[in-house]
Amino acid sequence: MPPKIAAGNWKMHGDGASLSELDALIAAHTAPVARIVICPPATLIHRMAERASGSAIAIGGQTCHAASQGAHTGDIAAAMLTDAGATHVILGHSERRADHAETDAEVRAQAEAALAAGLTVIVCVGETGAERDADVTLAVVETQLSGSIPDGVTAATLVIAYEPVWAIGTGRVPTTEQIAEVHGAIRAHLTTRFGEAGREMAILYGGSVKPGNAAEIFAVRDVNGALVGGASLKAADFAGIIAAL
Ligand code: PGA
Repeated sequence: MPPKIAAGNWKMHGDGASLSELDALIAAHTAPVARIVICPPATLIHRMAERASGSAIAIGGQTCHAASQGAHTGDIAAAMLTDAGATHVILGHSERRADHAETDAEVRAQAEAALAAGLTVIVCVGETGAERDADVTLAVVETQLSGSIPDGVTAATLVIAYEPVWAIGTGRVPTTEQIAEVHGAIRAHLTTRFGEAGREMAILYGGSVKPGNAAEIFAVRDVNGALVGGASLKAADFAGIIAAL
């Protein structure tokens, strides 16, 4: 069975005052049934990792550069994330693909750097609304998977997040049939490429997951957890999602 994972993507939200949300999350999950990851802005990684040390909560970055160091103003290397205490990193989020024109090849190179640094990678894929309307969702996701996932990953080092771009931050969620179809296709891709290990890799759904819809989404076959944006910012909301796992 793949692990159950609840990952929170704080995006560009949060400051020192938000550390109380992490404290509340830690206090509420002393005997967790799932892997819980918080991916805050880079400025909070070190402080959060120190606070979460010894707890059930893991800390992750939201991207990393493919290079190990160099003249890349504003970027962050994978080993810098581990140095700050992160154990996970989100890669290829649609906002990175859109805002920074990140390609599948770049995401793959970032993933290779992250794996070399000892991080678990959460690779995001998902179609835009126009692509779903054009009925090319499975082809788009297949291309992203083929292009973004490096060789040599294991169930311990690779997590996939299926995030339909039109569902992110919109309150719109695909039907359970639509989620099942894409997650099934992702599972097929992973088992074709990685054999038995592909059955053990976690596939998360992301896009407008809330405490009120989490249970229905988690009941879908091949959904092993969620990548949560807005509803991960408040410990109470995120705890409600974790409880549904
Ligand atoms: P959302 O974001 O939960 O706010 O829709 C999800 C994500 O982008 O990871």
